[in-house]
Amino acid sequence: MTQTTFTALGLSEPLLRALETRKFETPTPIQADTIPALLAGKDLLGVAQTGSGKTAAFTLPILQHLAAQQIRPAPFVTRAVILAPTRELALQIDETVRALSINLRLRTVVIIGGASRFKQVEAMRRGADIVIGTPGRVCDLMQTRELQLGAVTHFVLDEADRMLDLGFIKDIRRIVAALPPRRQSCLFSATMPAEVASLANSLLRDPIRVEIARKEETAPKIEQFVHHLAQSGKQSLLLSMLQDEALSRVIVFTRTKHGANKVASVLENAGIQVNAIHGNKSQPQREKALRDFRSGRARVLVATDIAARGIDVTGISHVINFDLPVEAESYVHRIGRTARAGAAGIAISFCDPSERAVLRQIERQMNYSITVVGDAPPPMSQQPKRPSAPGQAQRRRYNDRGNRGMRSAA
Ligand code: AMP
Repeated sequence: MTQTTFTALGLSEPLLRALETRKFETPTPIQADTIPALLAGKDLLGVAQTGSGKTAAFTLPILQHLAAQQIRPAPFVTRAVILAPTRELALQIDETVRALSINLRLRTVVIIGGASRFKQVEAMRRGADIVIGTPGRVCDLMQTRELQLGAVTHFVLDEADRMLDLGFIKDIRRIVAALPPRRQSCLFSATMPAEVASLANSLLRDPIRVEIARKEETAPKIEQFVHHLAQSGKQSLLLSMLQDEALSRVIVFTRTKHGANKVASVLENAGIQVNAIHGNKSQPQREKALRDFRSGRARVLVATDIAARGIDVTGISHVINFDLPVEAESYVHRIGRTARAGAAGIAISFCDPSERAVLRQIERQMNYSITVVGDAPPPMSQQPKRPSAPGQAQRRRYNDRGNRGMRSAA
């Protein structure tokens, strides 16, 4: 593959300097593929997930266009809108936008739920070049005309599939209806189900389509294991596994908020530094949890799917699925939290008898057999009668590659 440079992509000097400061030396494939077309004003349909470098791919051309136009936005007016499904992702995008616009005079305002509405309105009083937001709060401010979209020239919808999963379709349609027809639009989605394709159809004009392959790139770097056990044995297995220091930065996924709190309190009682992140946590609590996890102050982050979506923390050694997700698709998102930026990662799932159907669905969808650790499951007709205690095989270290005494599930 020939490698291109940011200069060759046609970016302006202030952006090139910002990239240098940020230590982005070479464009990622999605950046190389999309930046020239976006600079030329094309719409974009990007099939890519977090980790591909898509944020800088759509941000750099927007910044270049907005800076070139030198327009001062009127009060409550914005020139660009970037929508994300979760607050965390919106804040991450904001961080990238700020870093890349460091040499430009552009105003960015974040409009998300769980944060002070008053402060957001005050910020909009001075007008914005770019609004980064979540659909609910954006609609809220639109309704009171404290956010006006009539002058928008650039629109980005990030993680469209997750937006629809979270039920944001009505809000998105209201936002899109308020945009001028003459604009540049980008839509990104990790998957392309029919509803997303139809949304893309209604949103984009003759878009270029860029697809960054995911499974083939990430699957081999993530080693995947499954423990078959009863629900009641999960806590003690988790505690026993965490005795191993190789599990240095761990995300534990639970299906429910209540489950997340329960697991976090069990770990805390065992003296493990842990935080939980889920929909009932306030924005400051979520941000603190992420900060602690990033800095290493907390070794374990217990999360539900929605809260963990889009979290970009490097150096996650292990993802543990305390519960398997309801949808097979979420499994891929979850395990993608590890093995980022080319590093290797390990994903371990706990599967009780009621979760075996979804495990099979996950394996079918990935076309991959997850390695069974410890005891293989009994036949479906013979459910285990008592919780399986963490046995020797289960306590085996997950970092001594190649000698784990495991059997394939196949
Ligand atoms: P994203 O897919 O936009 O969430 O980006 C994933 C990660 O890759 C983020 O931590 C970015 O800071 C990083 N990143 C994006 N583009 C580059 C690049 N060209 N060089 C190095 N790191 C990058």
